[in-house]
Amino acid sequence: MLHIDDLVVRYGSAVAIDGLSLHVEAGEMVALVGPNGAGKSTLINTVTGLLSPASGSVRCEGRVAQVPEGRQMFADMTVEDNLLLGGWSIRNRDLSEVFDLLPDLAGMRRRKAGRLSGGQQQMVAVGRALMARPDLLAIDELSLGLAPLVVAELAGHLRVLNRERGTAVLLVEQEVGLAFDVCARACVLEAGRVVASGPSASVAKSDAVRRAYFGDL
Ligand code: ATP
Repeated sequence: MLHIDDLVVRYGSAVAIDGLSLHVEAGEMVALVGPNGAGKSTLINTVTGLLSPASGSVRCEGRVAQVPEGRQMFADMTVEDNLLLGGWSIRNRDLSEVFDLLPDLAGMRRRKAGRLSGGQQQMVAVGRALMARPDLLAIDELSLGLAPLVVAELAGHLRVLNRERGTAVLLVEQEVGLAFDVCARACVLEAGRVVASGPSASVAKSDAVRRAYFGDL
């Protein structure tokens, strides 16, 4: 459902994505890992249309919604209003579907988003993206700044979302263990290119991952 072919993305003269191809099937969960500066955020932002390709193509057969790095809450607005913002582009802005998937959000709907914990805010960020009823959810750093237990809970929600709704997930994640655990397939980016790709269990053992995260080789 997502077809990225020979993509090049630049910031001025600096090349951030350098001839990258990546395909995601409907309902697939794919992890995007790699060292700092590899181009993961740039890729996600290009998939969701925040950045434009210099060349190559990004084609998606369905709706994409993003959970941005750092969550990007509107701190002075309520949880409910943050969620409603996520559904502005579709006619039926029905909160109940999101509350079915993320029941904790119902109990905090009247609270100011800025008063919530990091984990609660991340749940709002996921819920806000789900309001667009995406076919593909692009998540930039699910675990950033969150305690492992909170992250495990969020990961559980993603699995349910994928199983019950068939929503595809593209997950950028520094915590490679988490990424490989949640996603059946993984891609390693290095300097704007895919240097390893395949079943997460095999990619986990690849030289590319050892190089990126353990500094050997
Ligand atoms: P991180 O894990 O640190 O977020 P990343 O893999 O997401 O890294 P990107 O943030 O996509 O990597 O950055 C890819 C390259 O593009 C890096 O060399 C980075 O310095 C550069 N870059 C990113 N954003 C900009 C920008 N706004 N202007 C110029 N260069 C940028």
